[in-house]
Amino acid sequence: MQNIRNFCIIAHIDHGKSTLADRLLEVTETIEKRKLKDRTLDTLELEQERGITIKLQTARMRHTYSGTNPEFSGEYILNLIDTPGHVDFSYEVSRSVAACEGALLLVDATQGVQAQTLSVMYKALGADLTVIPVINKVDLPSADVDRTKIEMMETFGFKEEEIISASGKSGIGVTDILNAIVERIPAPKVSTNGLTRALIFDSFFHEYKGAVALIRIMEGEINQAQKLYFVGTGTINKPVEIGYLNPSLLPQDKIIEGEVGYLATGLKDLRQLHVGDTVTLFKDDQSHTEVGLLVGYQPPKPMVFASLYPVEANDFPDFQEAIEKLALNDSSLTYQKESSQALGTGFVCGFLGLLHVEIVQERLDREFNIDLISTNPTVEFKVQLTTSDYSKIPGINTSRIDEDGFLTVRMASEFPEGSLIKQVLEPWVKLEVFTPEEYIGEVMTLCQQSRGLYQGMEFTTQTAELTVRHAVIKYHIPTIEIILNFFDKLKSVSHGYASMDYTLFDYRPAAIVKVGILINSEEAEALSFLCHADAAERRARQLVEKLVEIIPKQLFKVPIQGAIGGKVIARADIQAYRKDVTAKLYGGDESRKRKLLDKQKKGKKKMKAIGRVEIPKEAFMAALKMD
Ligand code: GDP
Ligand code: MG
Repeated sequence: MQNIRNFCIIAHIDHGKSTLADRLLEVTETIEKRKLKDRTLDTLELEQERGITIKLQTARMRHTYSGTNPEFSGEYILNLIDTPGHVDFSYEVSRSVAACEGALLLVDATQGVQAQTLSVMYKALGADLTVIPVINKVDLPSADVDRTKIEMMETFGFKEEEIISASGKSGIGVTDILNAIVERIPAPKVSTNGLTRALIFDSFFHEYKGAVALIRIMEGEINQAQKLYFVGTGTINKPVEIGYLNPSLLPQDKIIEGEVGYLATGLKDLRQLHVGDTVTLFKDDQSHTEVGLLVGYQPPKPMVFASLYPVEANDFPDFQEAIEKLALNDSSLTYQKESSQALGTGFVCGFLGLLHVEIVQERLDREFNIDLISTNPTVEFKVQLTTSDYSKIPGINTSRIDEDGFLTVRMASEFPEGSLIKQVLEPWVKLEVFTPEEYIGEVMTLCQQSRGLYQGMEFTTQTAELTVRHAVIKYHIPTIEIILNFFDKLKSVSHGYASMDYTLFDYRPAAIVKVGILINSEEAEALSFLCHADAAERRARQLVEKLVEIIPKQLFKVPIQGAIGGKVIARADIQAYRKDVTAKLYGGDESRKRKLLDKQKKGKKKMKAIGRVEIPKEAFMAALKMD
């Protein structure tokens, strides 16, 4: 085990993580150069031989030390563990980090230290990792290596001689990085308690081998013949195969302490495997049930809900197939069939956050070529009803009412009418914002404006690794306030330097109302939204004004209104306009005219009709970006 090193690469987005990972695989001859496509580890879509899709994010490499310290001479096994890079997936980042002893911190020499550089560094230090600072992209003419170096020294307290200059593109410094991993990152600790425990830090679905867990063995060893027990979920499983990732699956008889590998469980549903769970050996005497978790574990919990409907009703079967396929590889995506009078059949989906919503929509669009519209994203509210005689409530879904008479509501269209509501509870999160000291005022103002309740503040010490003083500001805050575009606002008030993390913890009473959006007097269900009463008018006004810009003019005047119950709180009109795309081509050539008409027809396909008005898909996306 003395010759194993486990590390991850952490960086702000686009600072070159994937490109460097490719170079490491190439230099260590893990993958032959000619097989190495651009950014191999990014191949979510990659179809391997035999039509198997594998999420290649982790790889086991061999490196013969070629540095100057004779103490280290020999061959090493280096396990690279990839980390996702956004606040929506921050739980998964923490798990990947917990599986390593060290990290390469990349900073783009043309950009310098940026927001995520800080937040990932903070996570790495929190997990006690040894961090190797790397200035990347030094091959670029615009690289400012000296300035970046000073910035890294001042921000994090690195010493000049620790910092490696490199280029994942040209290969400069890559061997130095490999040698530094051997010299500086400690070998995995040797366990003494006689237990076997492994941490699941990632998972994916394999067509033939079922749900596959990527694991780091922290203690003991696992061999092919053993029955396993998953501590968090209580699942008992005999794996169909275990092995290393190099980065394709390489079966082994056993995986030992300190190593990184995979367990193919044969389970048909990725949801039965949870990132963050601990794997141990099944024992006949049931002693496995006494084994503790390695790190804090939380089951995946969707925070944001939105319903997705195909623009063309005929696309529904394709959409269903696509979402089932997608969910196989994304255990945090939940979905449930849903019918709406106006929008047809679709799915109400649960997501980790707004970025997750966008990624899923984009993948459905790009990989499965399905045009979708989405309802306004929202959180899960609990509505206490004034009556328990549900037969009097038209269209109510009684399976969503719990024993205490609370109805779970995940879309505006499910929100009961005012007279039926006793009270509404909304979810709250514990929020931690990590920011350089100078932006504390702006960050607190933002949290306060978002109905946050201040809980306290801590400072990092200047003498430790972080020399610029940072504050961790703690708030309790309603989830709906932070899932919309809180993250973007936080970035903007802190010039990109603040980052955040949150966990769900509580439900509290709130004055939530439904704002219905009416287009030409008909309700556009997908555009209607739930929000706090105080924000209703402002948000309604913003949305109707935005819709007036986006929805093309019609042959008649179209009023757009926002209303609570029967009361209109915002209105804007789209003026009538006679659209004649061929007019200016009068006397022009016929084929061009036809082309234009075709184009207009195609454009139309991406619209959804509400009454007589065609609404472009973008209008539904615009609602997503509302303040
Ligand atoms: P990631 O988001 O951190 O994974 O970044 P990528 O590896 O995807 O790189 C982002 C962009 O920077 C891509 O266009 C790369 O081609 C480019 N890039 C990455 N590393 C280097 C480098 O060392 N030199 C140069 N010139 N470009 C690089
Ligand atoms: Mg990448």
